[in-house]
Amino acid sequence: MNKITLTEKSKVAASLLERIHELHNPEETVRFMEVCGTHTVAIFREGIRQMLPKGIELISGPGCPVCVTDQQYMDQALAYAAREDVVIATFGDMLKIPGTTGNLWQSKENGAHIEIIYSPMEVLGLSEQYPDKKIIFLGIGFETTIAVIAATIQAVHAKGLKNVFFLISHKLVPPALRALLSNPDHQIDGFLLPGHVSVIIGEQPYQFLADEYHMPSCIAGFDGVEILAAIVNLLEQRKEKKFYVGNTYRSVVAKTGNSVAQQLMDTLYEPSDDGWRGIGVLPASGLKLRGEWSAYDALVQLPLGTFTTSDGPKGCQCGSVIQGMIHPDACPLFGKLCTPEHPVGACMVSVEGSCSAWYKYGFSSGGMTWEE
Ligand code: SF4
Repeated sequence: MNKITLTEKSKVAASLLERIHELHNPEETVRFMEVCGTHTVAIFREGIRQMLPKGIELISGPGCPVCVTDQQYMDQALAYAAREDVVIATFGDMLKIPGTTGNLWQSKENGAHIEIIYSPMEVLGLSEQYPDKKIIFLGIGFETTIAVIAATIQAVHAKGLKNVFFLISHKLVPPALRALLSNPDHQIDGFLLPGHVSVIIGEQPYQFLADEYHMPSCIAGFDGVEILAAIVNLLEQRKEKKFYVGNTYRSVVAKTGNSVAQQLMDTLYEPSDDGWRGIGVLPASGLKLRGEWSAYDALVQLPLGTFTTSDGPKGCQCGSVIQGMIHPDACPLFGKLCTPEHPVGACMVSVEGSCSAWYKYGFSSGGMTWEE
């Protein structure tokens, strides 16, 4: 396949921008939410906010897994880390998420056995390396990651390993979108839907946005041109008042998603209510291991008893940021007490967190890349 050149790409971007100007009514303000943290970063990196006409505002949503993982989950992880018979296996970002009594970095410095891994499958090696310990993997993430973790649990099962467990807090995107729209104060006029998650679930799970809420939505890729094409699609839906699930990422996202991954998830998990940071418990917005697979559920097999927990860091506005009610710089702690080096809230931890992205691309340049 021939690669598109930079000049050709610029021409495509220019014609998309022209179309955006044609479609946009300068008298009105529209707010499109990018659901996915990777989109948030791509929008900053490609300078998309600065290209759009005044009156089209992009707001960040609940698509960064680290941001939405709630305080109680982190407090459970801290409680497990304090046990001498446990090895915590996790991705590096998780160590900086604040819990009520500290974070996992501090636990590690204080002697907790925490292994930073790069693939969930590494738990198989840890199981053999530490046969007398209980290996607990911190399994967070959306549909994309859920399938990978499900494959890991199957591999653990196939090998007959008895000392590997999973502390699960999986999140599902469609119920979160429904929860956002059920807030009567929401200010969302359309969704840029996440590319990676949609690879797994396809288009159909978003259909309720059009049918029940008359809300434009479009699955988008991560290139600047793909994001602009999705914005064109959202504006066209608004103008024609014909609402459907657009898809400008067809090269990767099939209409029905990935049936193998969906089947794997259905085999291992069942829907459950789940807590979202700053939002609360949303019905059927998470998954738990079903039936015999609960043999790998840390909370079922290694009950914690009582542990210290709270609602979250004082003053942190992550809940409002995640719901697109405020931009991160409206949080009084932003850039002062809360920075990527010293995050107060979860949205400042991951590079894909809204607060972290706003800090990196806006605060450090004196706000030059923020939308005014
Ligand atoms: Fe929370 Fe920090 Fe973001 Fe404020 S700036 S909402 S404290 S993560």
